[in-house]
Formats: sequence, C-alpha cells, structure tokens
Amino acid sequence: MTGPDRIIPLFSSSSGNATLIKCHGTYILIDCGITCKRLTKALVDSGVYPDDISAIFLTHRHGDHISGVPVFSRKYHTPIYGTKATLAVLDNLASPVTEIEENDIIQLDEGLEIRAFPTPHDVRGSVCYRIVNNETKNSIAVMTDLGRINDGMKGFARSCDVILLESNYDPYMLEHGEYPKELQKRISGGHGHISNPESAEVAEYFIINGTKKFILGHLSPHNNTPAIALETFTSTLSDRGFVEGVDYEVKVAKKDEPTEGYIL
Ligand SMILES: [Zn+2]
Ligand SMILES: [Zn+2]
Repeated sequence: MTGPDRIIPLFSSSSGNATLIKCHGTYILIDCGITCKRLTKALVDSGVYPDDISAIFLTHRHGDHISGVPVFSRKYHTPIYGTKATLAVLDNLASPVTEIEENDIIQLDEGLEIRAFPTPHDVRGSVCYRIVNNETKNSIAVMTDLGRINDGMKGFARSCDVILLESNYDPYMLEHGEYPKELQKRISGGHGHISNPESAEVAEYFIINGTKKFILGHLSPHNNTPAIALETFTSTLSDRGFVEGVDYEVKVAKKDEPTEGYIL
C-alpha cells in the first residue's frame, strides 16, 4: 500500500462532476462529467496522471456526470463501471466496461472495495458509492444527486470517515430565482436534489454515528452559494449542539477546480 487514502473533489456542481479518490494505493474517479482536457489538467494539478487512474465509477447518466467519458475513454482506455441504464447512453468507448447492479460490491483488489447503493434520483440506474479500504477500514462516501434521503442511504453511508454530501440549493433562492415552477418542482420534489437544510439535517445523523469530515458538493450555480451552504450547515448543527472544528469538519467543494479535500 502506497500513501494514505484521500479524497480530492476535482469538479463539483450541476455543471460538471468528477471526484478523485485514492484508496489502498489505487486511484479511482467517481464520475467524469467534464471535458477530457479540463479533467486532465485538474488531475495533473493534483499530482496525478490520467494513466494512474485504475477505474471510473459512474453514478448516473446525466451529462454533468458522464459528458467527458467517451473522449477520456478513447484517450486513456480507463476501465469504466456503471449500471445498465448509465452505460446504455455511452458509446464509442475504448475501455473495458463493467456493468454493475445497483447494490453491487465490487472488489477492485483485495484491499479495495467499492459498494453501490440506489438513489431516488430522476433517472433509472442512479447510485451513490462507498469506497472502503479493507485493510485500514477507512471509508469514503460520495453522495450526490440524491433526490431525497431515505433510511437505506443513511445506513449505507453510516460511520464513513468522510462524506461528500450533496448540498444543492438554498430553498429561498430556488423559490425566488429565475427557474420556472416546473424545474423548481423537478429539483425539490424528492427525485432531483437535496437542499442545504436537508444536507445539514442528515449530517446530524452521520455525526452521531461517527463521521467527522464532510465536503458539501454539487452546489447549484444558480440557487446556492458556498457561503450560504456552509452557513446553513454549521448553524443548523450548532443549534443541535455540534461545534465545527470540535465535533466535525466541513469544506465546500469548488465548482471549477480541485478542492483540497481530506487525507485519511
Ligand atoms: Zn448532477
Ligand atoms: Zn443527476
């Protein structure tokens, strides 16, 4: 095993997502929703070369999670994992492709396990992931495009060391912004995204169950700001008696460039 486990969000917003994870000495990407050129630059800026990536795990078929896959695949032949509905929209790939089920556990090597879990997002085959180092028992969850939080998802990410947690919109900004009512309903209706207050609410459960490090991600560029997401998170948890820097740490993933993330 070489080097510590870590998570570096490279891009995180409704405009494009890719998260770099190093676990048990292996680099993987969760999602590839940004151009190959921009992703390559972000990787190199983070000290990793595209050829170092052992696998790409896709959460779902929306463009902000898969748009960069075809070009990246043809250039680097990186193995790709996704559910049937996700893989169905991808063609012209030059990678080994593995279809996974929504509840699969994939053993990438003897010390690295990637578990999938279905989310109630509004396309078939949507999943979130938990990445587990079987030697150290470190685990990292990537939980975005959730729709809503259910008990199954809470149990799935329970006790992870780090959770990259969706904090997509501020309810006031969504309601008073420029989005038409139909789109507002799509986002907040239980199959789109979770809001800042919902994210803070579920974080309380995760903290009680041992999670200490959070990254707020997949912020809407139109209906949220990093400052508002952070303020909602910390003030809600403070009201419940949890102090930032003592009971937990939180960062906001940057939209367009790598975020420092955490080393485990
Ligand atoms: Zn998305
Ligand atoms: Zn989506």
